[in-house]
Amino acid sequence: MQEFDIETLAVRAGYDQTGEQENSEAIFPTSSFRYHSAAQAAARFSGEEKGNVYSRFTNPTVRAFENRLALMEGGEACVATASGMSAILSTFMGLLQSGDHVVSSQSIFGTTKVLFNKYLSKFGVEVTFVSQTQSSEWAEAIQPNTKALFLETPSNPLTEVADLEAISKIAKDNDCVLIVDNCFCTPILQRPLEQGADIVIHSATKFLDGQGRAIGGAVIGSSELIEEPVRGFMRTAGPTMSPFNAWIFLKGLETLSVRMEAHCQRAFELASWLTDHPAVEQVFYPGLESHPQYELAAKQQSAGGGLVSFRVKGFQDQAWSVIDSTKMLSITANLGDVKTSITHPATTTHSRVDPQERLQAGITDNLIRISVGLESIEDIKKDLARGLDRLI
Ligand SMILES: *Cc1c(COP(=O)(O)O)cnc(C)c1O
Repeated sequence: MQEFDIETLAVRAGYDQTGEQENSEAIFPTSSFRYHSAAQAAARFSGEEKGNVYSRFTNPTVRAFENRLALMEGGEACVATASGMSAILSTFMGLLQSGDHVVSSQSIFGTTKVLFNKYLSKFGVEVTFVSQTQSSEWAEAIQPNTKALFLETPSNPLTEVADLEAISKIAKDNDCVLIVDNCFCTPILQRPLEQGADIVIHSATKFLDGQGRAIGGAVIGSSELIEEPVRGFMRTAGPTMSPFNAWIFLKGLETLSVRMEAHCQRAFELASWLTDHPAVEQVFYPGLESHPQYELAAKQQSAGGGLVSFRVKGFQDQAWSVIDSTKMLSITANLGDVKTSITHPATTTHSRVDPQERLQAGITDNLIRISVGLESIEDIKKDLARGLDRLI
């Protein structure tokens, strides 16, 4: 299937039709598999014969999702996991050991930061946080024991873009793996493996599902990095994706390219409209020419993505009043959904971050984040105008 374009892969790749000749992919909700004989069971357990054994690590529906996503990201192998967080955990547990060091962007998903600071640290893995946008800081933070570099681009919520070419060169020069959380762009907009990354992480919960129905994750890369280390950990520790969820994500992938196109188109229109609104102080969207890294974003991503953040003129009260004046938008921290969501990062997604650090990172109290869904853009604007117009 490799010769097909990504839109075709998203619809058709990775699944072997059963003898029932179904056109839509079947779900296999079975915990174990039956063998023809004792000898076959022995061969499956020893790995001599390839095939299903037990759904903690082999399930046809989960495998179809893994195969499809691996092809879409341009990786050799993919492990599906129970959540985006367990994808990150499985990657680090599989690849690192006590005494290893990681350099990470400071602009990463809050829970990933907690995983690093509170849990990986307990097992002797130390993480140094550096600027998302100053590539020189990455090189300076490398130590003899540095094994991995970690980032998401664009970042949440300020959409800062990390330079994949520069940072992947630093990783290669220092024998480290570069791990990129590609949750915001999805392989439709950005394929980090083609731009020098070694591993791609997904929270399938977001755009891959796209309709806010299920929690899941994935890790993609070369067979060498994925099969033994990451799948080995997942198989043993058990943060497995369920076949039901795998089926939802498989169906989500089928519409991903048209959804991403529609998310990006609406997000661009919203970002432009917000830029011209007198109650708005600043807009953050990589697809706007006013974005400080517009050119880098244009080089790495085929469009700006579905997330737009902006500062209202004023403080927390003004930001909250815009949020509370909406009647249609969902006040929720989830993103990547067909339903547009609105969030106040300082008091939700980033509330666990030290206030001083939060301000330094630009998460001010007047900042609002929108994950632009697929409703009419005019209705989205009207819903935001209710609160914004009152601030003028
Ligand atoms: C949501 C998210 C995660 C965590 O994924 P879950 O599926 O919620 O565990 C990781 N990284 C990013 C960028 C996210 O947005």
